[in-house]
Amino acid sequence: MLHKHRQLIPAALLAILLAALLLAGCGGAPAPGPDGPAEAAEHAVEFFAMDTYMSFRFYGGEDGLEQELRALVTDMEKELSVVREDSAVSRLNSTGSAALSDTGAELLRRTLDLCGQTDGALDVSVYPVVRAWGFTDAAPAEGSARIPAPETLAALLEKVDYRRIRLEGNDVSLPEGMEIDLGAVAKGYAGEILARRLKEAGVESAVLALGGNIQTVGAKPDGSPWRVGIQSPDKDGLLGVLSVADRAVVTSGGYERFFTDDDGNVWWHIMDPATGYPARSGLISVTVIGESGLACDALSTALFIMGPERAVDFWRDHGDFEMVLATEDDRLLLTPGAADAFEADENLSYTVEVIGND
Ligand code: ADP
Ligand code: MG
Repeated sequence: MLHKHRQLIPAALLAILLAALLLAGCGGAPAPGPDGPAEAAEHAVEFFAMDTYMSFRFYGGEDGLEQELRALVTDMEKELSVVREDSAVSRLNSTGSAALSDTGAELLRRTLDLCGQTDGALDVSVYPVVRAWGFTDAAPAEGSARIPAPETLAALLEKVDYRRIRLEGNDVSLPEGMEIDLGAVAKGYAGEILARRLKEAGVESAVLALGGNIQTVGAKPDGSPWRVGIQSPDKDGLLGVLSVADRAVVTSGGYERFFTDDDGNVWWHIMDPATGYPARSGLISVTVIGESGLACDALSTALFIMGPERAVDFWRDHGDFEMVLATEDDRLLLTPGAADAFEADENLSYTVEVIGND
């Protein structure tokens, strides 16, 4: 018998906890003096979408912005979801071609570029493999998580190669039998799109939690940085807290969605496209901090697959992001910029190491 763990409720609770943590101290912002600027009104939006709990808070902006943010997310979900039969991506997967919206096409174009940069560690065409393991965007039916036969995986891997996806303008097409899933990047991209819209509407301070994906706009209204917790992979609580402004903070971990087989082996939802098996690279969680929510989401997944050594090399080559790697042997590896922003939890049981530039 397979024991499946779908930590939906804890994830929702975590989002609430994160939101609470993020907001601690905001209520006490000093009232402006008689000549000071008017204090921007606080707005909050909470709903369930993209298979996770969304919690947004922003200061100032135009009327109706809450509804607009919500619609931006639900429209993206309608277009991109692999589990909604009427989505453009489902149509693409079943018929081999579809027309995307401008936003959808921008997402796919930039994601394909990131698949290339990560040398295929990120591969949006790994979906047939993800499904064979019983992991999809929807909560899998009880008992659907399973270990596929090696021959099954070998046959499915023939269909995995992001370089064969054709995108011309907004039209995308796939060779026979190939299917894609943008689940590894959709929330990060949604955060980026929302932040873009908020800035356009004049919002200078916002924090958006899309499940465990955090996107910040500016700093807190009092000018101090947002404080974003990193969940501890192996127990309740946090590894620590990052102080950030105007950044996305995205974590991918093997502890989010997994099942345990009869022999006690743990299998999770992040696949190594080179093998067809869940990535076992020595990492248990990867947090990426950067300007682009999409790139952070793509890289948190890809670096998890690459493992600590390749992840460090990738960072040294690219360097336009910061990261916190938690290894299976209880080490926490931080880039210098992440180390500056990081405050370890007082109960942290990991050895902290700062990665050098060479
Ligand atoms: P989450 O969505 O749980 O926050 P990730 O951003 O790491 O986690 O994305 C994991 C999802 O991406 C999986 O559920 C699966 O649908 C898909 N996926 C798994 N492995 C890969 C991969 N190597 N490349 C692209 N997508 C992947
Ligand atoms: Mg991701």
